[in-house]
Amino acid sequence: MLPKYKRILLKLSGEALVGGSNNGFDPFDPRVIEQYANDIKAITDLGVQVAIVIGGGNIYRGMNEHDSGIERAHGDYMGMLATMINGMAMQAMLEKIGVYTRLQSAIKMEQIAEPYVRRRAIRHLEKGRVVIFGAGTGNPYFTTDTAGSLRAIEIGADVILKGTRVDGIYTADPEKDPNATRYESISFQECISKGLKVMDMTAFTLCMENKLPIIVFDMNKPGNLLKVVEGLSNVGTLVS
Ligand code: UDP
Repeated sequence: MLPKYKRILLKLSGEALVGGSNNGFDPFDPRVIEQYANDIKAITDLGVQVAIVIGGGNIYRGMNEHDSGIERAHGDYMGMLATMINGMAMQAMLEKIGVYTRLQSAIKMEQIAEPYVRRRAIRHLEKGRVVIFGAGTGNPYFTTDTAGSLRAIEIGADVILKGTRVDGIYTADPEKDPNATRYESISFQECISKGLKVMDMTAFTLCMENKLPIIVFDMNKPGNLLKVVEGLSNVGTLVS
């Protein structure tokens, strides 16, 4: 099947990388990263241009100022560094299976990543390289969802794919309400009027104002990413 999208931005949650075999020390389960890498390879093989923004929640979140005693902005920078560790892990796994990658960081760290340069990122994508954007937006008080929306708009992605551990947006919390059903598609306005949380407000508003569709889907199920890119409606929820 021909892919529906030519250029995508995949937002991966840091927390989902923990997987099942966490012994309390490992921030990620290599099997999860391996599965993600295989799924990403499958869509690059179809010619889809892939950019990735990865979270850092499995290692550090800067928002818990009161618990940690660490000032918010300082903690946020720590969180941004955490996304670089995940980005490097993702990069290593992709390269291991033969996918060419570039890691670009919003905070300069020349020995391990290119600095973020929009036009260069686009050039890499055109050459078929997967571009991983690390260090979020480079600014505290933002999230990696916002970084994902921002980068997706900047590089002219057709869609942002938000990989989570749930298979879309539901009418109610499916863990609490057995009658909850999944939306195949929903508008930005409906999400707001129904109080459905897709991303944080900053990220969501950026997408809405720039008419960038979002697909929320379960990234931890092998093969789902391919289905989403092929435009199958039985996976995830399309917000547009
Ligand atoms: N962060 C930030 N600015 C950004 C992106 C991330 O300050 O542009 C920090 C923030 O502290 C955040 C942490 O990095 O909590 C990890 O990112 P996030 O919580 O978005 O990761 P995820 O929930 O996807 O694992």
